[in-house]
Amino acid sequence: MSVVERARRVLPGGNTRTTLFVPPHPPYAVRGEGAIVTDHTGHRVIDCNNNYTSLIHGHARPEVLEAAFEAARSGTAFGLPTASEVALAEHVRDRTGIEQWRFCNSGTEAVLMLLRAARAYTGRELIVRFEGSYHGTGDAVVSPGAPGVVPGSVLVLPQNDLPALRAAMRDHGDRVAAVLIDLMPNRAGLTPADPAYVAELDALTRQHGALLAVDEVITFRLHEGGLHQRYGIRPDLVSVGKVIGGGFPVGAVGGRAEVLSPFDPQTPDGVSWGGTFSANPVTMSAGLTALRLFGPAEIAELNRRGDELRSRLRDAGVAVRGSGSLLRLMAADTTKLWWSLYERGVLAGTNGLLALSTAMTPAHLDHIADAVIATLRSGSAEHR
Ligand code: PMP
Repeated sequence: MSVVERARRVLPGGNTRTTLFVPPHPPYAVRGEGAIVTDHTGHRVIDCNNNYTSLIHGHARPEVLEAAFEAARSGTAFGLPTASEVALAEHVRDRTGIEQWRFCNSGTEAVLMLLRAARAYTGRELIVRFEGSYHGTGDAVVSPGAPGVVPGSVLVLPQNDLPALRAAMRDHGDRVAAVLIDLMPNRAGLTPADPAYVAELDALTRQHGALLAVDEVITFRLHEGGLHQRYGIRPDLVSVGKVIGGGFPVGAVGGRAEVLSPFDPQTPDGVSWGGTFSANPVTMSAGLTALRLFGPAEIAELNRRGDELRSRLRDAGVAVRGSGSLLRLMAADTTKLWWSLYERGVLAGTNGLLALSTAMTPAHLDHIADAVIATLRSGSAEHR
């Protein structure tokens, strides 16, 4: 029996992650080496998905693997903290200037805990977030009416709409614990937030004693300390994930010591943070090594390559958005777009997302550009 037939019997729809499903079923990955993935049919593709932007160095980068193996040889997880979480926290603190950190196993958990910290710290209930932004699958960020969410505890606004933001803060600002924003939301089309809007958001949150929370789970790769640094803002809380785990499951929340004080086990009525595998030394060590290999020079170079690819595609008439190493192709039929690219040797996100890795060579980038342009000519991608 093929893997596809076996999968359909034991997994709803044949796989675990809705976010990577393409009908009739996605191919199954067998092997990843640098920028290349081989699937169960033996087809080889250049990986522009990079596990939804998390594999900043592509697959099986030797230094990252060695760090993970070395950690694993001394024990994969403990009922005690380890120095590896201290080292990763120090590294992200130095990159961001954000004082304190806590680790978990996914971006979903990071956002969930960030919102809990915001509510505990401010003693307020209301969370403001933006339409079309994806923040994982916690109830508060999926839809305001999800079970477990008290009606009226989440307000969803259109992003970049200043009058709507002003009105919401005027009417409810004093009840707002935090405003949660992704400065370049992938699901909403990878359009960077307007700097004037972000500046006013920053001012309004401060004016009303609400916290400014930035979800950097995807955008952390764009700048040494995350995309927010380009906007010149200092968020009270950030959620990160993906690249900081070196390819292993990860999430983290960062903030000032004061704002994260609800997580201190000695704080009365604090917020409990568990997670059997949170801050495990394999993830922490792989993450630290991956980040050390992705400093300002590597970030600038990867962003430059992304900008170059974007201009090249635009010049050929392709509708493409994004910034730096993250690109987004636009298409009416994203399934057709995905398969058209896949058949031409390019693995994209199911929504047309392309995320570059340091494992890509100029020849890979040429191949990606040719595949996208051929896809446009085939009628599967949009003209700009
Ligand atoms: N926030 C953002 C902005 C994301 O893009 C994602 C996942 N793509 C998440 C949170 C959730 O992260 P995870 O999939 O690791 O739970």
